[in-house]
Amino acid sequence: MDLELLDRRLAERAEPAFRARQVWEWTARGAASYEEMSNLPGSLRGALDAEVPFSSLALERTARSRDGTEKALFATADGRPVEAVLMRYRDGRRSLCLSSQSGCPLTCSFCATGSMRFGRNLSASEILDQALQFRRAEAVDHAVFMGMGEPLMNLDSVLAACERLPDLGIAASRTTISTVGWIPGIERLAREGPRVRLALSVHAPDEALRSELMPVNDRYRLADVLDACRAWREARRRRVYVEYLMLAGVNDRPEQARALASLLRPRHAFKVNLIPYNPTGGEYSGSGRGAIEAFRATLAERGVPATLRLTRGRDIDAACGQLAAAGRAPGFG
Ligand code: SAH
Repeated sequence: MDLELLDRRLAERAEPAFRARQVWEWTARGAASYEEMSNLPGSLRGALDAEVPFSSLALERTARSRDGTEKALFATADGRPVEAVLMRYRDGRRSLCLSSQSGCPLTCSFCATGSMRFGRNLSASEILDQALQFRRAEAVDHAVFMGMGEPLMNLDSVLAACERLPDLGIAASRTTISTVGWIPGIERLAREGPRVRLALSVHAPDEALRSELMPVNDRYRLADVLDACRAWREARRRRVYVEYLMLAGVNDRPEQARALASLLRPRHAFKVNLIPYNPTGGEYSGSGRGAIEAFRATLAERGVPATLRLTRGRDIDAACGQLAAAGRAPGFG
């Protein structure tokens, strides 16, 4: 729901100030239409129905994975594709993977989103409407900004969305913003906004390889990014999650694990998440189980805690790095 449009329409009708809050409370709790909002006058419900579209996104398709993961493809009012994913875990956790941009201007070589055309930043309402689509069907309790886009390049909207996610049942402490290492955004997150978690995509322990995989590293060097993360941690008193994609023969050698371990100081400031590579039709193949386990063990020997990320939704191209709605719409068969 376009919350700014809602405010304008309510103001034009000289409605009392609490109306916007009433509408939002219903919406955040999963109402499916204005009609359900029984404490609004009937005439107002009718007017809103005509003037403020219930969602700022049109749901185009959904796909469901064998593991229960669900992916939704939306279009914005100006026709931009947006994808979001709901991951259901056995322990009952329901985690949303949200997009902050349609497409992505960064061109990480292993990521499908980076190869589609960049559209634009999404508004806070367009981010919330992804979450609300799933919230209408069931309770949700975690969110990760690991869908399309670089959230710290659209931080105003991302923070505005994060302010409201708790109303949907997702506390700030259960919201994670994942970044390539966009330093101005990390610095801002250290100073303002809800107390969300921070995840950093590292993927290589040296500047040259990282620049090859992630061209943004030429602009914001890993060494400086890690300094910004340390400052964020000092300010926020939370550790930083390091994401490390496991690419066979590229970044998965034991000496690279040792190099990564020596970068991540102080020890308790970082926790590593090793990510199996999800095929995107490019030049890479994922590391084998043995290489991943050896990498993890090498980190652990050096006191760096590391876990392996569960891959979800790969059969519908809903897994990390596979979101690229434009044209091919994988997984929406
Ligand atoms: N732009 C942000 C958030 C989006 S990507 C970022 O880069 O952090 C979320 C995570 O998925 C990142 O760690 C990203 O590097 C990873 N990823 C990208 N492509 C992938 C792929 N093909 N397989 C597995 N993970 C991938």
